[in-house]
Amino acid sequence: MPRNDIAVVGAGLVGAMVATLLTQRGFRVSVFEKRSDPRKAGFQGGRSINLALAERGLHALRATGLAAQVLEQAVMMRGRMVHDPAGHSGLQRYGVDDSEVIWSVSRGGLNNLMLDAAEAAGATIHFDQGLAGADLDAGRLMLRSMDGTERSINAPVIIGADGAGSALRAEMHRHSPLGERIEELGHGYKELEIPPGKDPSAPFAIERNALHIWPRGHYMCIALPNREGSFTVTLFLPNDGEHPSFRTIAGAAAAEGFFRTEFPDALALMPEFTNDWAAHPVGTLATLYLDRWHIGGRALLIGDAAHAIVPFHGQGMNCGFEDAAELADLFAANPSDPAAVFAAFEATRKPNADAIARMALENYVEMRDKVADPVFLRKRELGALLTERCPTHYLPRYRMVTFTHLPYRYALERGQAQDVLVEQLLLGHESVASVDIEAAVRALQATLPPLPAEAFDRG
Ligand code: FAD
Repeated sequence: MPRNDIAVVGAGLVGAMVATLLTQRGFRVSVFEKRSDPRKAGFQGGRSINLALAERGLHALRATGLAAQVLEQAVMMRGRMVHDPAGHSGLQRYGVDDSEVIWSVSRGGLNNLMLDAAEAAGATIHFDQGLAGADLDAGRLMLRSMDGTERSINAPVIIGADGAGSALRAEMHRHSPLGERIEELGHGYKELEIPPGKDPSAPFAIERNALHIWPRGHYMCIALPNREGSFTVTLFLPNDGEHPSFRTIAGAAAAEGFFRTEFPDALALMPEFTNDWAAHPVGTLATLYLDRWHIGGRALLIGDAAHAIVPFHGQGMNCGFEDAAELADLFAANPSDPAAVFAAFEATRKPNADAIARMALENYVEMRDKVADPVFLRKRELGALLTERCPTHYLPRYRMVTFTHLPYRYALERGQAQDVLVEQLLLGHESVASVDIEAAVRALQATLPPLPAEAFDRG
């Protein structure tokens, strides 16, 4: 293999993205994927699983030329529709208007589109070729197909996009320890479904253009819309401990009882609840931290293989797409020195991955608890007012993460500084109406420097 050949392990969302972007920049890319080709498996029915796509992911999709096609198949979500225990609901917008929204996309549909794009760009995808071993010093990969056939290939430059349980990561770690740490969240998730309504002209049983949340303190349900009118519902709950937890809710009948008490309005929309509960496993949630993402210029991890995070900011894929775009830019600038490219990638991306990992954990508490908390709502209201009155100096952290390309690390640090200020401004005030807003703007300008230009560069 000449230097310009790159092997990618994993043709999931990030593997297909990086393969497309590198091929577009003139590299010869071969992708090795454990599963068979999902496009050939045909329509498998069953549930739709979706993901929230935001600006960082869209930015990478624009570079592949796929953005318009993806958005055509997506459902816009303007904000959080928060459902309280009494059955009332209200929309908390994410941004100022429809220029600041997120998109619910089908995971399978997006993956298929991206596989098509990678092949159209010129990448070769080998399905049913799982990584089974690697000799990184010799630049060789061992691949195994489902019938047990094994082969070994030359691969001097390898990118591991094989997800949270990465086999390449295990091989790299065996070669030179990566400093791996996995922190279990202690909470798991179960996917359920609100099917489309019977009336084809109005198939959505609840507001279509929102991400629905039923916050209940230590746990919550969320629902994201699918194009055909269904919603993918996810319950997040502690695995063990006092009721309610996945351990104390034994079986579908007990789960139905729990939903009848805690989420009666959602339960009423899920006629297949007990079947879904019995059929779908409890998913685990954890954050993966590594000290090192690469071994010289031989192998590099990206996406979930390098930094799997909990899903509460809806940024795992978005961050992985940003990884892919930045890696492709670095390779384009320095095509013949993968060691330098990998080192530069790790140096810029790792602090950002650490920051989004932390913000994703914090967002779980915000979503399940704080969105219904009056103090949180007051801070949010004052933040929105400061953004309106002084947009050069204040942008809520959620919007920096979701609608801009500001580095995640910057969003984390700026968000902390803004938070301290807003708390000070609200001291002694029961409502935002009594805050002297002109004085608040002066305090903001005196305390924090203006936001960088990237804060205003959308798209
Ligand atoms: P994966 O999607 O895991 O793909 C890895 C690929 O590698 C797969 O195709 C797999 O078959 C293949 N593979 C595995 N082992 C091997 C092997 N040995 N050899 C060859 N191939 C192999 N992110 C968002 O941005 N927005 C969201 O709303 C969102 N919601 C989420 C909700 C939940 C419940 C969860 C769990 C995650 C969510 N995420 C979300 C995160 C997102 O799913 C991941 O960040 C994203 O899928 C990572 O992509 P990836 O390509 O790195 O890994």
